[in-house]
Formats: sequence, C-alpha cells, structure tokens
Amino acid sequence: MPEIRFYSGENIPLELHKVRIVQKLDLVPVERRAEAIEEAGYNTFLLKNKDIYLDMLTDSGVNAMSDRQLAAMMVADDSYAGSSTYTRLTDKLTEIFGTEYFLPAHQGRAAENIIAMTFVQKGSIIPMNYHFTTTKAHITRLGGYVEELVVDEGVKVESDCPFKGNFDLERLEKLLKENHDRIPFMRIEAGTNLIGGQPLSLENIEMAADIAHRYGVLTVMDASLLQDNLYFIKTREEKAKDLSLREITRRISGKMDIIYFSGRKLGFARGGGISIHSKELYLKMRELVPMFEGFLTYGGMSVREMEAMAVGLDETMDMDVISQGPLFIKYMTDELMKRGVPVVTPAGGLGCHLDAMRFIPHVKQEEYPAGALAAAVFIAGGLRGMERGTISEQREEDGSEHLAAVELLRLALPRRVFTLSQVKYAVDRISWLYDNRSLVGGLRFVEEPSSLRFFFGRLEPVSDWPQKLVEAFRRDFSDSL
Ligand SMILES: *Cc1c(COP(=O)(O)O)cnc(C)c1O
Repeated sequence: MPEIRFYSGENIPLELHKVRIVQKLDLVPVERRAEAIEEAGYNTFLLKNKDIYLDMLTDSGVNAMSDRQLAAMMVADDSYAGSSTYTRLTDKLTEIFGTEYFLPAHQGRAAENIIAMTFVQKGSIIPMNYHFTTTKAHITRLGGYVEELVVDEGVKVESDCPFKGNFDLERLEKLLKENHDRIPFMRIEAGTNLIGGQPLSLENIEMAADIAHRYGVLTVMDASLLQDNLYFIKTREEKAKDLSLREITRRISGKMDIIYFSGRKLGFARGGGISIHSKELYLKMRELVPMFEGFLTYGGMSVREMEAMAVGLDETMDMDVISQGPLFIKYMTDELMKRGVPVVTPAGGLGCHLDAMRFIPHVKQEEYPAGALAAAVFIAGGLRGMERGTISEQREEDGSEHLAAVELLRLALPRRVFTLSQVKYAVDRISWLYDNRSLVGGLRFVEEPSSLRFFFGRLEPVSDWPQKLVEAFRRDFSDSL
C-alpha cells in the first residue's frame, strides 16, 4: 500500500486491490457466543466457524489469494513424478533465494520435522532468537534443547525498539564458543511469531549468521513470516532503505544454509518446503520427504497450491502487496492504544497483540490470563483470537507449569481478508471489554493433553464470570448483537 496522505489529516491504510469474491459471515448474539465458547472448552481452537464473526485465530492458510494465483491453479500439472509444477516452484525459489535445491513438504511443521530428524540428537542444543510451538515440539521430541537468545527488549511488551526479534549476539557468541560441538544448527525465525510478529534487522541476521559460521554451525531460517520481516527491514532499517525487496531477500538467503517456510503464510497458499544451497545438505534430508510427505515433486501438497505458491512468492517481492498486513495491524494497534487498551508495541506483523497481563492484571498467570482474555474477547465480539501465553507452553518435565515470558492474545489479520470497518468493529468491542475488564476471571484445565495442549485442551472458568460478562454486554447493547 502506498503512503497516501488524506486531506482530512486522518491516516488510513489504503488498499491497492479490490474484492472480487466474498464469503458470507454470521454474527450470532452474545448469549450464543457465551454458549459456544463453553461448548469449546474455553479453547478458541475448538470453536466452530458458524459461531465466529471475525476469525483472527491465525494467518495460516487463510490469506486472500490474487487473481493471478487462482489463474495459475488452473495450469497445475498433476502427476506423481516429474511434475512441471514442481519445476516452476523450484525455479521461483531459485530466483528469489538463490537456492539450487528444494524439498517440498505439506506445511511448515513438516519441514521442521525433516530438519529436526536429520540434525537433532539427544543432547543437541538449538539456539534461536525465539521458539515457535511446533518447532520446539519437534526438537524436544528428539531429546534436543532449545536455547532462546532474543534481545531483552523482545519480551518487553511495550517498547519502541524497531527490531525486537533480534538475537542477543553476545549470548549467541558465548553459547557457540562453549557448546558448538553440541549445536548442529542455529535457527533464525524472521519474524518471531510468539512475541508479536516482531522482526529482526538485516544487520542482526547477517551478524548472527557470521558468528554461527565462524564456529562451523549451520544457519537455518524459518522464513514463514519473512514477508512481514522484509517490510520492516525496508521501512525501519537505514542501511536497507535503498535496497529492493529482492536484494534484501538475497542478502538474507546468502547467509543461510537452509531456508524453510510455511507456504500457508509465505506465498499466500497452503504447503511448505525447504530451500537449500548445497547438494550435500539436500541429499542428507531428501529421503525423509517420500517417507513422510509424498514423492519429491509434490511432498504432500496439492499441485494447485504449489502453482499458487509460486505466484504468491513472486507477489511477496512487491511492497504494495506485503505492506497491507503490517499497515492494517498498525492501524488496529494505534486505535486500541488511543483507547488505553494495552497492546504490544511497536506493532509487528501477523496480527495485533493484546497484553493480557496488563489487560486483566487481577488474573494470575496460573489461571491463564491470555486464555481467559481470548474467551472474553470472543464473548464480547465474536472475534476469535489465539492464546499465546502459558497455555501455549509445555509443562516442565517434573509436571510444574512453565509460565510464559509474556501472556498475549493474538488477533491475526489474515492478509487482504478483512475490511477496515471490520477492524473498527473489533477495536470497538475490545475497548468495551477493556472498560469491563474487572469482570473477566481466570480459567483452569479440565482436560490437559501432555503435548501441544493449546490445540486440544479443555478448560472451564474459575467462577461464573462469563455469565456476568454477558449480562454487562446486554445492559450496554440491549438492541445489538
Ligand atoms: C506457522 C508457522 C510455522 C508452522 O507452519 P505450518 O504451515 O502451520 O505447519 C512454523 N514457524 C513459524 C514461524 C510459523 O509462523
């Protein structure tokens, strides 16, 4: 989106696309919303779409596609082996990343599985700026250990640091110096999902990669959220100001041995894969693809999605395309801040993040403030967000709770999906909830799976607070949904 100045002085993100296909939405009454979240065990993952007005759970696989992507899906080459769709996708990745080899996988976590199975052993240490849920699960499943090295500013919810996803390079250097023999690779997540879609700077990526290589450690980038990170590098980093998006991408990929991504985010389609510079590393991982994903030329993906991804990757190199997400998120974040609602600053990629510990400080961390806020925001507006706090962590081996560094409610803005009036509605209902925040109470588990509990776990409120919230809503909105 271009920087268009409004005569009114108002700053509104202006779309450089038009809507050509629409999907009907329902907005059910607050009483039904309260029932629905109860039925879902107070876990927004278990809600049904018919009860949801704005699905802000994730940006994964739900971004709007372009006309060019849809057109490309029609020319997909459906064959088990040797598909020319695979060649087109690989060529696009070579053009963008400069990587020669590509291993397809059905989505981001499948790529993580392949990388982890190839390189992680019991006792391995994997340094990273910040973990992602599925990444950590794959590494710890194999007996590896995740070491998080994000700068201190990264876990401060209120900040004006433009690159909160950066590595603390001193800690990285120290860890590598002392333990490089136990470190098969370093992982760079650009941008960092769990701490608010916060980016790394180009300089930090380059320096971190140089340190790793000095100790003979491979560099692996999780590029799932790279498009937002590219936007922030381009707009926030002085030294990148005169570089094109393609040049920035090449600078980054030139420092990486392996780049993997979720095509559900990067590329606006559904799938994933691993791009690799060297034949040796490619061969090391290759046999796992037919074993777990599908033959080497589709890796469990639909060829239609692969065609769409190739076009989507191309469109990722266009500032008008990749700026839409970050600018909508900034608009939503700014509007919430004007109303005093505690949010993660500066606005990052992926979505707008509410800071549950400041939103409902009376709910203690053992009663999952981010999970409780997710349930409350759903009752208040039919908005489905995702808990990114203690529920998203795994318990320690001794069974004790691992309290998250931050308790966030992520309200994702799938790219090009919502209109500004919908964002305004979300802001309105969240600010209503903020004014009624004293009503919101905590949650406790009634069914707790031992792994990835945030997906399937069921909880209940510690009191009748959801009912109180519905009553307050009805007092203020007697004639509105
Ligand atoms: C979504 C995501 C993944 C996992 O990708 P899926 O396609 O959902 O399996 C991995 N890393 C990051 C940073 C992500 O945002």
